[in-house]
Amino acid sequence: MVLSAYADFSPEMAEIAKPFFTEGWIDAAVKPGKAPGAFAHPTVTTVHPYVMLNYLGKPRDVMTLAHELGHGVHQVLAAGQGELLSSTPLTLAETASVFGEMLTFRKLLSAAKTQQDRKVLLAGKVEDMINTVVRQIAFYDFECKLHAARAEGELTPGQINEIWMSVQAESLGPIFEFMDGYETFWSYIPHFVHSPFYVYAYAFGDGLVNALYAVYEEGDPDFQEKYFDMLRAGGSKHHKELLAPFGLDASDPAFWDKGLSMISGMIDELEAMED
Ligand SMILES: [Zn+2]
Repeated sequence: MVLSAYADFSPEMAEIAKPFFTEGWIDAAVKPGKAPGAFAHPTVTTVHPYVMLNYLGKPRDVMTLAHELGHGVHQVLAAGQGELLSSTPLTLAETASVFGEMLTFRKLLSAAKTQQDRKVLLAGKVEDMINTVVRQIAFYDFECKLHAARAEGELTPGQINEIWMSVQAESLGPIFEFMDGYETFWSYIPHFVHSPFYVYAYAFGDGLVNALYAVYEEGDPDFQEKYFDMLRAGGSKHHKELLAPFGLDASDPAFWDKGLSMISGMIDELEAMED
Protein backbone atom coordinates (compact mmCIF):
# COMPACT_ATOMS: atom_id res chain seq x y z
CA MET A 1 0.00 0.00 0.00
CA VAL A 2 2.77 2.41 0.99
CA LEU A 3 4.97 1.46 -1.96
CA SER A 4 2.14 1.97 -4.42
CA ALA A 5 1.28 5.36 -2.87
CA TYR A 6 4.95 6.32 -3.17
CA ALA A 7 5.11 5.00 -6.76
CA ASP A 8 2.06 7.07 -7.75
CA PHE A 9 4.03 10.13 -6.68
CA SER A 10 7.25 8.98 -8.33
CA PRO A 11 8.55 5.53 -9.31
CA GLU A 12 11.97 6.64 -8.04
CA MET A 13 10.61 7.12 -4.55
CA ALA A 14 9.19 3.58 -4.51
CA GLU A 15 12.55 2.28 -5.83
CA ILE A 16 14.36 3.87 -2.88
CA ALA A 17 11.85 2.44 -0.40
CA LYS A 18 11.78 -1.07 -1.91
CA PRO A 19 15.00 -2.52 -0.38
CA PHE A 20 13.65 -1.72 3.08
CA PHE A 21 11.22 -4.59 2.40
CA THR A 22 13.34 -6.86 0.23
CA GLU A 23 16.63 -6.55 2.16
CA GLY A 24 15.14 -6.89 5.62
CA TRP A 25 15.79 -3.32 6.78
CA ILE A 26 12.46 -3.18 8.65
CA ASP A 27 12.01 -4.73 12.08
CA ALA A 28 8.22 -4.88 12.04
CA ALA A 29 7.04 -7.66 14.31
CA VAL A 30 5.94 -7.13 17.88
CA LYS A 31 7.87 -9.34 20.32
CA PRO A 32 8.41 -9.57 24.08
CA GLY A 33 10.89 -7.03 25.42
CA LYS A 34 10.96 -4.96 22.22
CA ALA A 35 11.04 -1.17 22.60
CA PRO A 36 7.71 0.52 21.88
CA GLY A 37 7.14 3.19 19.21
CA ALA A 38 8.73 3.50 15.79
CA PHE A 39 11.71 5.21 14.20
CA ALA A 40 14.05 5.24 11.20
CA HIS A 41 17.74 5.15 12.05
CA PRO A 42 20.19 6.41 9.41
CA THR A 43 23.14 4.39 10.88
CA VAL A 44 26.07 5.85 8.88
CA THR A 45 25.92 7.47 5.46
CA THR A 46 28.08 4.74 3.86
CA VAL A 47 25.65 1.95 4.74
CA HIS A 48 21.80 2.27 4.83
CA PRO A 49 19.07 3.13 7.31
CA TYR A 50 16.91 0.73 9.31
CA VAL A 51 13.26 1.14 10.29
CA MET A 52 11.87 -0.04 13.61
CA LEU A 53 8.12 -0.54 13.99
CA ASN A 54 5.63 -2.37 16.17
CA TYR A 55 3.38 -3.40 13.31
CA LEU A 56 -0.03 -4.93 14.06
CA GLY A 57 -1.70 -4.26 10.70
CA LYS A 58 -4.05 -1.47 11.82
CA PRO A 59 -4.64 1.50 9.50
CA ARG A 60 -2.65 3.58 12.01
CA ASP A 61 0.30 1.17 11.60
CA VAL A 62 0.19 1.61 7.83
CA MET A 63 0.46 5.38 8.35
CA THR A 64 3.36 4.85 10.79
CA LEU A 65 5.11 2.71 8.17
CA ALA A 66 4.52 5.46 5.57
CA HIS A 67 5.94 7.97 8.05
CA GLU A 68 9.09 6.02 8.94
CA LEU A 69 9.75 5.06 5.30
CA GLY A 70 9.55 8.77 4.49
CA HIS A 71 12.39 9.30 6.96
CA GLY A 72 14.18 6.32 5.43
CA VAL A 73 13.94 7.72 1.88
CA HIS A 74 15.14 11.10 3.18
CA GLN A 75 18.10 9.44 4.93
CA VAL A 76 19.06 7.50 1.79
CA LEU A 77 18.87 10.64 -0.39
CA ALA A 78 20.74 12.85 2.08
CA ALA A 79 23.52 10.29 2.63
CA GLY A 80 25.43 11.85 -0.27
CA GLN A 81 26.04 14.88 1.95
CA GLY A 82 28.28 12.77 4.17
CA GLU A 83 28.22 12.24 7.90
CA LEU A 84 28.42 15.88 8.98
CA LEU A 85 25.80 17.44 6.70
CA SER A 86 23.34 14.63 6.08
CA SER A 87 21.12 15.02 9.12
CA THR A 88 18.36 17.55 8.63
CA PRO A 89 17.74 20.62 10.77
CA LEU A 90 14.67 20.52 13.04
CA THR A 91 12.64 22.58 10.59
CA LEU A 92 12.82 19.85 7.94
CA ALA A 93 13.22 16.78 10.17
CA GLU A 94 9.58 15.73 9.70
CA THR A 95 9.09 16.86 6.09
CA ALA A 96 9.63 13.61 4.19
CA SER A 97 7.89 11.54 6.87
CA VAL A 98 4.75 13.68 6.95
CA PHE A 99 4.78 13.92 3.14
CA GLY A 100 4.99 10.12 2.91
CA GLU A 101 1.99 9.89 5.24
CA MET A 102 0.07 12.41 3.16
CA LEU A 103 0.67 10.43 -0.06
CA THR A 104 -0.52 7.24 1.62
CA PHE A 105 -3.50 8.95 3.22
CA ARG A 106 -4.61 10.43 -0.13
CA LYS A 107 -4.29 7.02 -1.75
CA LEU A 108 -6.42 5.39 0.97
CA LEU A 109 -8.96 8.21 0.76
CA SER A 110 -9.33 7.98 -3.00
CA ALA A 111 -9.79 4.20 -2.68
CA ALA A 112 -12.50 4.56 0.01
CA LYS A 113 -15.57 2.66 -1.21
CA THR A 114 -18.26 4.06 1.06
CA GLN A 115 -19.10 7.40 2.57
CA GLN A 116 -18.56 5.78 5.98
CA ASP A 117 -14.99 4.68 5.06
CA ARG A 118 -14.25 8.18 3.84
CA LYS A 119 -15.59 9.66 7.04
CA VAL A 120 -13.47 7.37 9.25
CA LEU A 121 -10.32 8.20 7.27
CA LEU A 122 -10.97 11.94 7.32
CA ALA A 123 -11.83 11.97 11.03
CA GLY A 124 -8.61 10.09 11.82
CA LYS A 125 -6.54 12.48 9.71
CA VAL A 126 -8.13 15.55 11.29
CA GLU A 127 -7.43 14.15 14.74
CA ASP A 128 -3.79 13.47 13.77
CA MET A 129 -3.42 16.97 12.41
CA ILE A 130 -4.86 18.50 15.56
CA ASN A 131 -2.39 16.43 17.58
CA THR A 132 0.46 17.42 15.31
CA VAL A 133 -0.32 21.10 15.06
CA VAL A 134 -2.45 22.32 17.98
CA ARG A 135 -1.12 19.94 20.63
CA GLN A 136 2.56 20.24 19.72
CA ILE A 137 2.30 24.03 19.66
CA ALA A 138 0.80 23.85 23.16
CA PHE A 139 3.79 21.68 24.16
CA TYR A 140 6.10 24.28 22.68
CA ASP A 141 4.28 27.05 24.59
CA PHE A 142 4.73 25.04 27.77
CA GLU A 143 8.46 24.75 27.15
CA CYS A 144 8.83 28.48 26.46
CA LYS A 145 6.99 29.35 29.66
CA LEU A 146 8.89 26.72 31.64
CA HIS A 147 12.33 27.87 30.47
CA ALA A 148 11.43 31.52 31.04
CA ALA A 149 10.29 30.74 34.60
CA ARG A 150 13.38 28.62 35.26
CA ALA A 151 15.58 31.54 34.21
CA GLU A 152 14.05 33.44 37.15
CA GLY A 153 14.97 30.70 39.64
CA GLU A 154 14.54 27.06 40.58
CA LEU A 155 11.06 25.53 40.13
CA THR A 156 9.23 23.03 42.31
CA PRO A 157 7.30 20.16 40.65
CA GLY A 158 4.12 21.97 41.74
CA GLN A 159 5.10 25.09 39.82
CA ILE A 160 5.92 23.04 36.70
CA ASN A 161 2.49 21.36 37.03
CA GLU A 162 0.83 24.77 37.22
CA ILE A 163 2.49 25.97 34.01
CA TRP A 164 1.47 22.71 32.30
CA MET A 165 -2.16 22.97 33.39
CA SER A 166 -2.47 26.62 32.37
CA VAL A 167 -1.22 25.86 28.85
CA GLN A 168 -3.30 22.68 28.52
CA ALA A 169 -6.48 24.41 29.68
CA GLU A 170 -5.92 27.12 27.09
CA SER A 171 -5.14 24.76 24.21
CA LEU A 172 -7.82 22.13 24.85
CA GLY A 173 -10.56 24.57 25.76
CA PRO A 174 -13.41 24.33 28.27
CA ILE A 175 -14.90 21.10 26.91
CA PHE A 176 -12.37 18.88 28.71
CA GLU A 177 -12.54 17.76 32.30
CA PHE A 178 -9.03 17.15 33.60
CA MET A 179 -8.68 14.13 35.85
CA ASP A 180 -6.43 13.99 38.89
CA GLY A 181 -2.90 13.18 37.87
CA TYR A 182 -3.05 15.04 34.55
CA GLU A 183 -1.01 17.85 36.10
CA THR A 184 2.15 15.72 35.87
CA PHE A 185 1.56 14.61 32.26
CA TRP A 186 4.35 16.90 31.06
CA SER A 187 6.69 14.18 32.34
CA TYR A 188 5.57 11.71 29.62
CA ILE A 189 7.09 13.78 26.80
CA PRO A 190 10.72 12.66 26.40
CA HIS A 191 11.48 15.60 24.07
CA PHE A 192 11.17 18.08 26.94
CA VAL A 193 14.26 16.52 28.51
CA HIS A 194 16.22 15.02 25.62
CA SER A 195 15.61 17.48 22.77
CA PRO A 196 14.15 20.72 24.12
CA PHE A 197 11.85 22.59 21.70
CA TYR A 198 11.89 19.67 19.22
CA VAL A 199 8.08 19.48 19.39
CA TYR A 200 7.71 22.52 17.16
CA ALA A 201 9.25 20.50 14.32
CA TYR A 202 6.03 18.44 14.13
CA ALA A 203 3.82 21.51 13.78
CA PHE A 204 6.28 23.20 11.43
CA GLY A 205 6.61 19.97 9.40
CA ASP A 206 2.86 19.50 9.12
CA GLY A 207 2.28 23.10 8.03
CA LEU A 208 5.18 22.87 5.61
CA VAL A 209 4.03 19.60 4.10
CA ASN A 210 0.47 20.87 3.70
CA ALA A 211 1.81 23.88 1.83
CA LEU A 212 4.11 21.65 -0.25
CA TYR A 213 1.27 19.25 -1.00
CA ALA A 214 -0.87 22.16 -2.15
CA VAL A 215 1.90 23.10 -4.64
CA TYR A 216 2.04 19.45 -5.79
CA GLU A 217 -1.74 19.41 -6.32
CA GLU A 218 -1.53 22.62 -8.32
CA GLY A 219 0.39 20.46 -10.80
CA ASP A 220 3.96 21.83 -10.97
CA PRO A 221 5.49 19.44 -13.58
CA ASP A 222 8.96 19.65 -11.95
CA PHE A 223 7.65 19.08 -8.44
CA GLN A 224 9.13 15.57 -7.98
CA GLU A 225 12.59 16.64 -9.10
CA LYS A 226 12.50 19.69 -6.80
CA TYR A 227 11.28 17.54 -3.96
CA PHE A 228 14.15 15.05 -4.35
CA ASP A 229 16.66 17.92 -4.57
CA MET A 230 15.30 19.24 -1.29
CA LEU A 231 15.75 15.85 0.39
CA ARG A 232 19.20 15.35 -1.13
CA ALA A 233 20.32 18.64 0.46
CA GLY A 234 20.09 16.99 3.91
CA GLY A 235 21.24 19.56 6.46
CA SER A 236 23.32 21.63 4.07
CA LYS A 237 20.80 24.41 3.40
CA HIS A 238 18.35 26.67 5.26
CA HIS A 239 14.62 26.07 4.70
CA LYS A 240 14.36 29.48 3.05
CA GLU A 241 16.70 28.32 0.30
CA LEU A 242 15.10 24.88 0.06
CA LEU A 243 11.54 26.16 -0.26
CA ALA A 244 12.29 28.93 -2.76
CA PRO A 245 12.14 26.61 -5.83
CA PHE A 246 8.54 25.75 -4.85
CA GLY A 247 7.63 29.44 -4.60
CA LEU A 248 7.16 28.99 -0.85
CA ASP A 249 8.43 31.14 2.01
CA ALA A 250 7.87 30.09 5.63
CA SER A 251 8.30 33.68 6.85
CA ASP A 252 5.15 34.68 4.92
CA PRO A 253 1.92 34.21 6.93
CA ALA A 254 0.17 33.15 3.69
CA PHE A 255 2.41 30.06 3.70
CA TRP A 256 0.93 28.91 7.02
CA ASP A 257 -2.60 29.85 5.96
CA LYS A 258 -2.14 27.50 3.02
CA GLY A 259 -1.31 24.64 5.40
CA LEU A 260 -4.02 25.44 7.94
CA SER A 261 -6.70 25.83 5.27
CA MET A 262 -6.06 22.20 4.34
CA ILE A 263 -6.97 21.13 7.89
CA SER A 264 -10.03 23.37 8.07
CA GLY A 265 -11.10 22.12 4.62
CA MET A 266 -11.10 18.54 5.92
CA ILE A 267 -13.07 19.59 9.01
CA ASP A 268 -15.61 21.34 6.75
CA GLU A 269 -15.92 18.20 4.65
CA LEU A 270 -16.50 16.10 7.77
CA GLU A 271 -19.11 18.52 9.11
CA ALA A 272 -20.91 18.49 5.77
CA MET A 273 -21.19 14.68 6.04
CA GLU A 274 -23.03 15.08 9.36
CA ASP A 275 -25.97 16.76 7.65
ZN1 LIG B 1 9.07 11.27 12.41
